[in-house]
Amino acid sequence: MKAAILLAPRSARARPLEISDVAKPEPTPGHCLLRVLACGVCRTDLHVVEGELVPVREHLIPGHQIVGRVVGGATDALPLGTRVGVSWLGGTDGHCPYCRNGNENLCDSPTFTGYTVDGGYAEYTLARRDFVFPLPESFDDLQAAPLLCAGIIGFRSLRVAGVERGERVGLFGFGASAHLTLPVLRSWNCEVFVSTRGASHRRLAASLGATWVGDDTQQPPVALDRAITFAPSGDVVVAALASVRKGGIVAINAIHLDRIPEFDYDRLLWGERQLRSVANMTRSDARDFLDVASAIGLRPSVTAFPLEQANEALVAIKDDAIDGAAVIIP
Ligand SMILES: [Zn+2]
Ligand SMILES: [Zn+2]
Repeated sequence: MKAAILLAPRSARARPLEISDVAKPEPTPGHCLLRVLACGVCRTDLHVVEGELVPVREHLIPGHQIVGRVVGGATDALPLGTRVGVSWLGGTDGHCPYCRNGNENLCDSPTFTGYTVDGGYAEYTLARRDFVFPLPESFDDLQAAPLLCAGIIGFRSLRVAGVERGERVGLFGFGASAHLTLPVLRSWNCEVFVSTRGASHRRLAASLGATWVGDDTQQPPVALDRAITFAPSGDVVVAALASVRKGGIVAINAIHLDRIPEFDYDRLLWGERQLRSVANMTRSDARDFLDVASAIGLRPSVTAFPLEQANEALVAIKDDAIDGAAVIIP
C-alpha cells in the first residue's frame, strides 16, 4: 500500500514524510483493518513530525482523524463495509486508576493513533475495534475527518472550561478545532468572542456567527465567562487569562506550548480564575460530540490534499494557511 512515512523528525519545510510503498497491515486480535477514505491533518501531527512530541517509533505513519471502511477483522457488531472513525485515543489499558474512574483520557498506558502506532496517512490502517466510532451518514468522508480530533477535543475543551448555555466564551486562535467549536457554542446560545492573527480566519469566524472578532493584539470588549486557547503559544494563554472574569476558566487546547511566560498572579489568576489543560479525549466525548455535530448540522470547512502532498498539508497547518481543516485523501 501507499503510505506517508516519517523516518526522522524534522521541520515540515524539509519534507520529513516519504511517500512510499509498504506492506499492507494484517488484522491482529482485537483490531479491524480499515481502507482509509480520508484522514484529517491535526496540529498534533505537526508536533509529531517536527519532534516536539518525543519520538517513540523509528518508522511512523502519522494521522489520527481517520475515516475508514472495515475491510478485515470484521465481527457481527462491526461488519465488513461499516464506515467508522478513528481518533487520537487509539486504546487504553482499561485497568489503571484513571480508566477505572472514567478518565480514560489520562490512562497510564495509552495508545495514540499516528504516534505510538501507525495512523491514517496511508491506504490502509489497523484500529482497535473498541476504539472506532460509527459515523453519522450526514457527513461525507471529507467532512467527517476533522470531526475526529479537532471536533472531539474542541468539544472536550468546552467541557473542561465548564461552558454553560448563554455564557460569553472566548476562542483564542481560530484553526480547525475552533471553527468546529463555534457552531456548537452558537447552538447553546453562547456569545462567542474570537481573537486570531489571520484576517481570513477572522472572516470565517464572523461568518459562523461570532459576536466579536479581533486580532491577537485586541482584547474582547467584555469580561468573558470562559476562554479556550488553541494556539501553541503561552502568550495567548496569558491574553486569555486577562480576558476572563473572576471565577472564569481558561482551558488550553494544545498538546504542546512554546512556554508559559511569567504573569501577574494578583491581576490574572487571583479571584478564583482557573487555568486548565485539555488532555486527549474519552470515547464518550467522541460519541457525544458526533451526536451534537449531527443534530446541529455542523459543516466543516475543508481543504483536501492527495496523500502525495502530505508534506504540503503539514506546511499549510504550520503557516496557518488553511481556513478550517486540512484533510488527506489517500
Ligand atoms: Zn488506563
Ligand atoms: Zn489531533
